[in-house]
Amino acid sequence: MTQAETSVDFVRGIIADDNRSGKFDGRVITRFPPEPNGYLHIGHAKSICLNFGIAAEFDGACNLRFDDTNPSKEEVEYVESIQEDVRWLGFDWGQNLFYASDYFGQLYEYATQLIENGKAYVCDLTGDEIREYRGNLAEPGKESPYRDRSVEENLWLFQQMRAGESDEGTHTLRAKIDMASPNLNLRDPVLYRIQKETHHRTGDEWPIYPMYDFAHGQSDSIENITHSVCTLEFEDHRPLYDWFLDELGIYHSQQIEFARLNLTYTVLSKRRLIQLVEEGYVNGWDDPRMPTISGLRRRGYTPEAVRNFCDRIGVAKRDNTVDMALLEYTLREDLNKRSPRVMSVLDPLKVVIENYPEGKSEKIVSVNNPEDMSMGERSIPFSRTVYIEKDDFREEPPPKFYRLSPGREVRLKDAYYITCTGVVKDETTGKVIELRATYDPETYGGTSVDGRKVRGTSHWVSVDHAVDAEVRIYDHLFAKEDPDVVPEGGDFKDNLNSESLVVVSAKVEPGLDKAKPGERFQFLRQGYFVVDPDSTPEAPVFNRTVALRDTWSRMDQSRKKG
Ligand code: ATP
Ligand code: MG
Repeated sequence: MTQAETSVDFVRGIIADDNRSGKFDGRVITRFPPEPNGYLHIGHAKSICLNFGIAAEFDGACNLRFDDTNPSKEEVEYVESIQEDVRWLGFDWGQNLFYASDYFGQLYEYATQLIENGKAYVCDLTGDEIREYRGNLAEPGKESPYRDRSVEENLWLFQQMRAGESDEGTHTLRAKIDMASPNLNLRDPVLYRIQKETHHRTGDEWPIYPMYDFAHGQSDSIENITHSVCTLEFEDHRPLYDWFLDELGIYHSQQIEFARLNLTYTVLSKRRLIQLVEEGYVNGWDDPRMPTISGLRRRGYTPEAVRNFCDRIGVAKRDNTVDMALLEYTLREDLNKRSPRVMSVLDPLKVVIENYPEGKSEKIVSVNNPEDMSMGERSIPFSRTVYIEKDDFREEPPPKFYRLSPGREVRLKDAYYITCTGVVKDETTGKVIELRATYDPETYGGTSVDGRKVRGTSHWVSVDHAVDAEVRIYDHLFAKEDPDVVPEGGDFKDNLNSESLVVVSAKVEPGLDKAKPGERFQFLRQGYFVVDPDSTPEAPVFNRTVALRDTWSRMDQSRKKG
């Protein structure tokens, strides 16, 4: 068990303390503030579970607020997908849906107030010049030559900017703080920029837009957020947010920073995920290889598994990287309980059972989930010719291989014992293309009357009854644990795994053609699968959600031993 499962995390600890001291009169209002410039990923799920989870536990509320201050990167498609994903995860913001763009008027007034108080000025430096003047950690910055403009001139210029009279890049509004501050965020940050672009909600009403830093803290304040929980990179921005709130004399939320989620074998950054989508490395935001919520959903993840994962990793103050194997372990744990077992053969080899009557078929009864008998049983047709997995046969079995080989008897799961009596090979390639076998009619159900044991059991599908299906087998999106490890001059995309998707033509149990998109199964011995939205009864498509092999629990055990 991780620490998070046994103790309360530090964020909840702070909130409990605040409730005890009456700091916010016992109110708890959190928010999840995505910028609608991409689809949500599993890192966001961590933040969603934390913010909505806290609101529920403390009998408070969690706002969904779109931080939509940059019209050039934001789209309605993202606003919609984000809402769908938060709901899918199982959270509800009720009436509390907000947009930073709703506060553009108020933010403009705040900016004017700062100008009037001599705390902000209009600057004519270009973006490059501003960067140059900012200095760096070793050197103090240089003051802008426009820093000492009069309040009147600043007000007039800011109004000109607002009226659309100034061109993009000619002016910015900057806070007048301290160009020598050791915190670069306090070196006269830009508050407003001119951007003549249409905003997804405010249209062409504004030719100027507030910077994220100028909008974020004030939006929290306007919404009366008590605890503004964010990732560690905003720790250095907190003094700036405090400066704004103090100078404006408005309500303060308490900002609390926690470590963002990093996962092995993937990237969690919208900027990078956008590249993968736009440059065609994946088939869209919901490609099942993507770490996006929509990708996980299409891959067959359950919201419960994602939430359990977020509980399990907990919330800490120091950055770390979580092993993808832990996510997959948590997923298997959940799928194991809920998935009916079915048989499918991914790489088929035909077996003709020569003493089984031609034309006959019979029903084999199989339990749907040995972990949950309430899921009942089903019957599967058996006949003279069946497919087994190519891998379940070896002409020359190595040691410890207990499945079929010439002369050996094995069990066909829930059906009969069969013995391999012959091998048919392709004359030119010499490859095994078919097996001959006999069965023992006294072993119906997969147990022998005389108590004779076999060591191997194979899953199978009757050739006459099998359904053809496309099966998409997914692997890690990146071949390296840390996709950022690249040779000089390389790029994270160089580490994409060329085998992250393998498509196979499989033979699946009859009835699976009627399964609906989103339905989940365990294909015996192959893993957990979900019906893809592309699937139709005529052409079923399954995605492999995760293999059965459980590296995490093995690692966990060896850790315990060691
Ligand atoms: P990205 O780096 O993927 O672009 P972002 O931080 O720019 O993410 P936002 O839309 O601003 O994306 O994020 C909304 C919220 O989700 C923020 O409060 C942010 O701190 C949180 N968040 C983003 N990424 C992670 C992560 N990997 N782990 C935990 N929380 C995250
Ligand atoms: Mg952000």
